[in-house]
Amino acid sequence: MLKTLLLTSCLVFFSSFQEKELPNTAVQSQVYICKSTSAKRYHLKKSCRGLNACTHDIIAVSLAKARNTYSRTLCKWED
Ligand SMILES: [Zn+2]
Repeated sequence: MLKTLLLTSCLVFFSSFQEKELPNTAVQSQVYICKSTSAKRYHLKKSCRGLNACTHDIIAVSLAKARNTYSRTLCKWED
């Protein structure tokens, strides 16, 4: 009886542990880029300090577009 109880609580603990340990697989599809020709990065947050220096328009684009169309790499402040 005690063994069953322990096993059950162990399983409950394990499954909640697993849930917590799962990486955040929700891939952010929208990123922000500075529409400057000299900018080479994309940003996950519009408030990123890497965007503070941007004097051009900041636009939201899809991650794929930022990487492929604009050839941007992830901002060094966010990796
Ligand atoms: Zn950034």
